[in-house]
Amino acid sequence: MRILVVEDEPALALRLQKALENASFAVDVSYDGEDGRHLGETEPYDAIVLDLGLPKMDGVSVLQHWRAASVSTPVLLLTARSRWSEKMAGFNAGADDYLTKPFEMEEVIYRVRGLIRRASGHSRPELVCGPLRIDTNAGRVHVHGAPIHLTAQEYRILSYLAHHHDRIVKRTELLEHVYDRHYDSDSNVLEVLLGRVRRKVGGGLIETVRGQGYRLVSKGDV
Ligand code: CA
Repeated sequence: MRILVVEDEPALALRLQKALENASFAVDVSYDGEDGRHLGETEPYDAIVLDLGLPKMDGVSVLQHWRAASVSTPVLLLTARSRWSEKMAGFNAGADDYLTKPFEMEEVIYRVRGLIRRASGHSRPELVCGPLRIDTNAGRVHVHGAPIHLTAQEYRILSYLAHHHDRIVKRTELLEHVYDRHYDSDSNVLEVLLGRVRRKVGGGLIETVRGQGYRLVSKGDV
């Protein structure tokens, strides 16, 4: 899962980036409204954390621009004040949730996870696909009841496929949602990682659909 953070305060942007990366997300950071608007429109993020007070273009205008351009990515707003008029403007522009500064980093993580789950049609924090159980809040994975350990990159791959179970996920799509924008997509690291994930979860859970991509088969247990 890949997140965009648009926040102009460097210290806060860095804390958000680190907290989200520790929670196994790939993270891109933008420090002004124009750059943020461009990234949000051209890169496929799973969720966006957007500050309202930004240089070059304010957060509400950025969000209005995205929604007018049919960007449907869930957006969590960060507001400096608890003024209702500001929040209302954000919701009217198409925000999905907001947090008032200062906030607990943990709360950002939980809200982002919830937004991503609901955007992919899952209401509960636990995803169950056949023998596979993913607790998306804790980042824990069990297969047939036994815990398995995954690296952050392996978890991102499995989590993305599980959020989109039973449909074919193209290789390019998976790459775009597992790595930040500085990743070199020419390498075959993805196949290596997928091989490791497959060995760990076992049972032919992740299919390769020749020439099309990958599919995590839930066998109807979700
Ligand atoms: Ca700001």
